[in-house]
Amino acid sequence: MEKMKGRNVICESCGAGFDASLVRCPYCGTAYEPAAEEEYMDKLEDVREDLSKHTKDADNATKKTFKKILLAAIIVIVIFAVFCIIALITPKSGSKHDPDELNSRKQELIQGE
Ligand SMILES: [Zn+2]
Repeated sequence: MEKMKGRNVICESCGAGFDASLVRCPYCGTAYEPAAEEEYMDKLEDVREDLSKHTKDADNATKKTFKKILLAAIIVIVIFAVFCIIALITPKSGSKHDPDELNSRKQELIQGE
């Protein structure tokens, strides 16, 4: 757009001279193709930049969410591992106590009857 500024073009339909950077003839409104095309390309480029910006934002959001999920998964796995370790350590003392308690309760019930 910058290199075309200051250059005059002749309108195809009315013959008036106007600045080449203008998209339309200021006298009759006929579109000046090169400037119109350049403006369209600029807009297209803006849209493309916007799109890539949004895509990057979305990518970052996805990565953040993924990290959060990963962190939550690690926490759950660690908690589960801790419970497994506790379960592996405690059953021996727990299983020895339980039958004895059951037996004594059974005896109490039998004696009570
Ligand atoms: Zn014109």
